[in-house]
Amino acid sequence: MARLSKLSRSIAGKVAIVTGAASGMGRATAHLFADEGAHVAALDISPIDPVVAEITEAGGKVRGWQLDVSRKEDIDRVVGEIAAHFGGIDILINNAGISMHGPIDNDDWESRWARSLDVLLTAQARMIRAALPHLRKSSSARIVNIASTEALGATRFISPYTAAKTGVVGLTRSLAVEFGPEGITVNCICPGPINTGMTQRIPPEQKAEYARRRVALRRYAEPEEVAQMTLSLVLPAAGFVTGVTLPVDGGLTIRNA
Ligand code: NAD
Repeated sequence: MARLSKLSRSIAGKVAIVTGAASGMGRATAHLFADEGAHVAALDISPIDPVVAEITEAGGKVRGWQLDVSRKEDIDRVVGEIAAHFGGIDILINNAGISMHGPIDNDDWESRWARSLDVLLTAQARMIRAALPHLRKSSSARIVNIASTEALGATRFISPYTAAKTGVVGLTRSLAVEFGPEGITVNCICPGPINTGMTQRIPPEQKAEYARRRVALRRYAEPEEVAQMTLSLVLPAAGFVTGVTLPVDGGLTIRNA
């Protein structure tokens, strides 16, 4: 009898953009996608050459672009260069992020709000707009936006971050509906506490105490654990999953006590 299973779990040969690829979850995602045979465009405001060298040395296909995702003109130029270099775009991972602390009556709040919304939310929408003509030509176009458990609850003193991440969930749902007729899926992942550049300054004792009190699995995750779930959402086989908000949080958001 012929095989009943027909859908592919391979992204080999797909062209994937990963923003914020110089560190943390973006770096882990770029590595994993390249390991899986994708052609990776690794983007970051920080120097990207070290990660490009790592991935190339591991046998992956990758090219880096240094850009600030808050700059519209740069997004449009770089996405055009990516499509020209790789011959198309199949997958977009909106991952770049910053975290700024301060209460709402802080003197710096206006600038923190503007920068947070620019980098965390507006940039994701602009990346999608720039990539859309190319995604439309793909046989299995996939978008994954990285939000946060801050989109499902709130921590005090990071109102711009929480507002922006909550916006990412809304953007994801809105575009999942908008692109549905075209078969382009749009999903978002809400990571919980992950060991990355963003959390590296938190003392280990403080991390352990937080994990013990709040996380069902009693630990921070490693970036690859998020990257693997991102991979699941971009597989050709994941074509009927769209508009989903997937917590990858060790049970943080479902734990009451
Ligand atoms: P990270 O600091 O290790 O990596 C973030 C990357 O984004 C860095 O390489 C940084 O240079 C890049 N970046 C920042 N601003 C940029 C800009 N304007 N243009 C281009 N690149 C820029 O942190 P991470 O934890 O890997 O963060 C990845 C995503 O995960 C972010 O969106 C973050 O908000 C989200 N997140 C992180 C956690 C956590 O616990 N670490 C939890 C929930 C959500």
